[in-house]
Amino acid sequence: MKQGRIYLIGAGPGDPGLITVRGLECLRQAEVVVYDYLANPQLLEEAPSAEKIYVGKCRGHHHRPQEEINRLLVELGQAGKIVARLKGGDPYLFGRGGEEALCLHEVGIPFEVVPGVTAAFAAAAYSGIPLTHRDFTTSLGLITGHEDPAKKVSRLDWEKLAQGIGTLVFYMGMANLELIARELITHGRDPQTPVAVVRWATHPSQQTLISTLAEVSHEVVRQKFAPPAVIIIGEVVTLRNELRWFDNRPLFGKRVLVTRSAEQAGSFSRLLQEQGAQVIECPTIALVPPESWDELDTLLAEVDRHDWLLLTSANAVRTVFERLAAAGRDARALGRCRVCVVGPKSAAILAEYGIRADLIPEDYKGEGVVAAFEKIGVRGARILFPRADKARKVIPEGLTALGAEVTAPIAYRNVVPKALPETAREALTAGKIDVITFTSSSTVENLAALLGVASLTESLAGVTVASIGPITSTTCRRFGLTVDLEPEDYTLESLTAALILHTSCA
Ligand code: SAH
Repeated sequence: MKQGRIYLIGAGPGDPGLITVRGLECLRQAEVVVYDYLANPQLLEEAPSAEKIYVGKCRGHHHRPQEEINRLLVELGQAGKIVARLKGGDPYLFGRGGEEALCLHEVGIPFEVVPGVTAAFAAAAYSGIPLTHRDFTTSLGLITGHEDPAKKVSRLDWEKLAQGIGTLVFYMGMANLELIARELITHGRDPQTPVAVVRWATHPSQQTLISTLAEVSHEVVRQKFAPPAVIIIGEVVTLRNELRWFDNRPLFGKRVLVTRSAEQAGSFSRLLQEQGAQVIECPTIALVPPESWDELDTLLAEVDRHDWLLLTSANAVRTVFERLAAAGRDARALGRCRVCVVGPKSAAILAEYGIRADLIPEDYKGEGVVAAFEKIGVRGARILFPRADKARKVIPEGLTALGAEVTAPIAYRNVVPKALPETAREALTAGKIDVITFTSSSTVENLAALLGVASLTESLAGVTVASIGPITSTTCRRFGLTVDLEPEDYTLESLTAALILHTSCA
């Protein structure tokens, strides 16, 4: 039988980007993933075919006793499995990773430990508090605030903690916070020592409370600050005033719904996330192939007999080159045929296939395309325009009116998906979003079809409606929505900028 192996992996503090490269490598190899409450479930998507076993806590109670977890790991190892034991933060820091490793060692199952970014380091970085700084302190203590309740006497030497170490970071200390603060003050720490309590560090919902040793336990109750949180105690906390960068980004804490197709959502989501938004992807459009490829393939076989290839979406660009590839051809098939794309995004994708766009309109929409062609004159030109099935008629009609000969085969179909993702539906109907973005008329129409018009307007009452341009805005209004913002040019960057402006003025 094949040899089993257990990887004890530090998943980091929450942001899935904070797992190590080695951790990710091990996770991707795993046949079984055994994971905790604090390991971000998004990381599980890195091991799609692995069996997943949740062993975390359930509403504050230990879901499975540690002995049972140890036994599970031993059994899996003995059954020859490659196991990723995914633990929040670092496995050897208050995570009982040491106990798990000892068990494996005792029965001789090979294991590897991959360190992770621990909560203290993550909370410090993401709240703007260097744990050491030459002007303030040169030492650091990481301490558990949750000692084993069975212990009669505290194992913590409060006097040494209070007087002998600069910065102190308590894990699992929320329930005992009053006692922690009292003991430190009693044993000589200044009651005015600054304290930061950082909860859900690195998550889009991160919160930081700033107080003093004397006041912090009252403040935590007053502000209903609940775990998981780390408590950072020391003069370095004051540096946050200058070094804060994560939770003061313009869209921080804003829950923004992105309604584009799954294929197109990524780049927009990233733009919003960079500004601090918590993005919920809710694809209202599914892009599917045409009923048959015949028409497009036949026309692409003689693409070089056209004067222009016109591509008005990223998906149209990709589809054209995929169909050429399916016929064993590449960009050279275009020959002398020139290419017009609708805007910088589609131009960038075209460039991936080695082609520089010959024409990009100033105004990134259908009317802009017609105007750009009108400027250069297209009387008698043959234009191949692979398009979406539900495209507006502006382009073919406009170009025909200019005297061009337009052929517009269907390259893909925009259909209403069967259902919305559960998280998105829940967020929408339970009023858990702040902003909804519509990036085409179809996104509005399809969402109305999926939710029902009454439920659409009801769900979006009080939600900021951000529309990419006038046509989409008209569709919004047709469904009874009030458009709160619309950028001057129709790009995702401008839409993001308009949202930032709107948020800062609100
Ligand atoms: N091994 C983990 C710690 C597990 S103990 C690590 O290295 O981070 C669980 C405690 O960690 C929580 O009670 C809390 O104090 C802290 N913690 C874990 N993730 C956190 C987060 N994202 N934000 C704030 N505290 C966190």
